[in-house]
Amino acid sequence: MKKLTKQFLNSIGLIGFTTALLGNSCSVPQQESQPNIILFLVDDMGWTDTSVSFGTEPTYNNKYHKTPNMEMLASRGVKFTNAYSASPVCSPTRCSILTGKNPAKSQITNWIPGRGNNFPEDDQKLLVPNWNVNGLNQDDITFPKILQKHGYVTAHIGKAHFGKEGTSGADPKFLGFDYNIAGHHAGQPESYYYPYGKKGSKYQVPDLEEFEKDSLYLTYALTEKANELIEMFSKQKKPFFLNLAHYAVHTPIQEDKKLISQFRQEGKTETQAKYASMVASMDQSLGAIMQKLKELNIDENTIIIFASDNGGLVTHAGYPTTNVPLSGGKGTCREGAIRVPLIVKWPGKTVAGTICNEPVISDDFFPTILNMAGVSDKLYGKDLDGKNLTPLLTKNGKFERGDALYFHYPHYWGWKQLRNDYEIIRPFSSIRSGKWKLCYSYESQKVELFNLENDISESNNLVKQEPEIAKKLCSQLRSYLQKVNAQTPVERSTGKPLSLPTLKL
Ligand code: CA
Repeated sequence: MKKLTKQFLNSIGLIGFTTALLGNSCSVPQQESQPNIILFLVDDMGWTDTSVSFGTEPTYNNKYHKTPNMEMLASRGVKFTNAYSASPVCSPTRCSILTGKNPAKSQITNWIPGRGNNFPEDDQKLLVPNWNVNGLNQDDITFPKILQKHGYVTAHIGKAHFGKEGTSGADPKFLGFDYNIAGHHAGQPESYYYPYGKKGSKYQVPDLEEFEKDSLYLTYALTEKANELIEMFSKQKKPFFLNLAHYAVHTPIQEDKKLISQFRQEGKTETQAKYASMVASMDQSLGAIMQKLKELNIDENTIIIFASDNGGLVTHAGYPTTNVPLSGGKGTCREGAIRVPLIVKWPGKTVAGTICNEPVISDDFFPTILNMAGVSDKLYGKDLDGKNLTPLLTKNGKFERGDALYFHYPHYWGWKQLRNDYEIIRPFSSIRSGKWKLCYSYESQKVELFNLENDISESNNLVKQEPEIAKKLCSQLRSYLQKVNAQTPVERSTGKPLSLPTLKL
């Protein structure tokens, strides 16, 4: 049945009747072949900042946090235990999601606009390369643009951080979203409380004036807007893609006053309690969205993808969390920076309660979401780093990455004092292949090799014990970075870019 005819019949309520008449000769109904898709993206949420355990046993944080709606989603979908953000910071991961390209290739390698690009602090032995500080722009191919062409209505709600202030990429409407609510150039809210920043400030969260009366906590305000749009799209019978990108749980650490009391416990700091309340309200948002889908009777035709854009913050702002047993956190070269929660529920396709241990990365969202929407991969370029994850989700067909996962961060995150305290905050590249992870530090030219299967904390450098594996992975990392024309940090004295990773044994 042609799409227009279908839409017309839908609009006059005759769809069921006609489908019954046509019986098996009718193609799959439009609503079934074009499921709604919600990407529920949390900011800076660590791998263990939830009561859902993504490891082999519950962690300290798993026992503290309360995320019953994530638990419900995981019990009904697929939980990925080895999911990664493409970057240890926000913008590169978010851009990798929209384009399917790794930051090493897009050269959007740092949060926008970064810090110390032209005026490095004196502890920085290396200079930052001339990276793509503007981020995405209106000419970039994004998967929401492709979805628009295939009958989807698309909406962005919450934190964008895709492009620099004043450029087209700062407004999600130029990147394939029909609607944009509260997304702009800034990477954090000025405040979680109404009016969400100083009125008129360029860092105030935009578009939420209507919440003055109720003074809603930001996470709930965004949830209300999301549910309004879902209801509208549902009435219009349009398949939709919703990018619900919460500002939570990024700094400033400001509590949800309704929820914090339960987290004030002996042995917990006030900052930890505040942070736990931010996580809990984010989870309530997930619950409210799932409830709305159910009320509208579209929950069985709506895919939910739950993810975070990088690991948990462990270095400052009152030390809101820990990523233990992972080491490090946001901005570092360790698993704590890049390993993130990922849950996917695809009604009718995913088997409830599945656990998937395959390493996956945010670059994969682009081809996966388009595949979910029924868009043929012939219709978009081959120049992707991401792989279609649907064989892992449906257990139908074989998933073969045929390559490793790559991480490239030629920047100094944070500031001098922070870097003095944390040696692992240095420009780096790394590769994950099977159980192995190799890290290369551009400053020290040191290579580290870890067996994540029995050393998830990356405490035992095996370069000397396993030189052949280290050599192979270092060479693979180098080849990839060379192939995508990755930018390396620049030698301060000569002004020349450093060599790509090499292993000198
Ligand atoms: Ca982030």
